[in-house]
Amino acid sequence: MTAPAPEPVPPVPDADSRFYWEGLASERLLVQACGRCGRRRFPPMPSCPYCAAVGAVIREAAAGTVYSWVTVRRAFQAAFEAEVPYTIATVDLDGGGRIVARLEPGEAASPGLRVRPRFVHHPGWTELRFHPE
Ligand SMILES: [Zn+2]
Repeated sequence: MTAPAPEPVPPVPDADSRFYWEGLASERLLVQACGRCGRRRFPPMPSCPYCAAVGAVIREAAAGTVYSWVTVRRAFQAAFEAEVPYTIATVDLDGGGRIVARLEPGEAASPGLRVRPRFVHHPGWTELRFHPE
């Protein structure tokens, strides 16, 4: 008999990322957009990496396209050991911005694959994953 897998280590939101984690908890994918140049960015940060404007407006994303991916064969946390191999994809969001998240287990990535977010609730936090449309 094996011990149950430990729970994943939860993220620690800060002032810049709290909206993102709260959005995931309510099953919404929220990203920052620059108030000056309008470009979206991820991960959350206090100023725009493109034009250096401070602050952001929050936008919701609903879908995207796989840009690239890696297959994880050694889990970063013991909680995910039973799930390897799994895929972490870089996704170009509709409306702009590029984000990183896991694909649903068993889903194969391919360039240009259309995906939508799925929200996996863990104790105390919600994980973003993507699944094919
Ligand atoms: Zn900007």
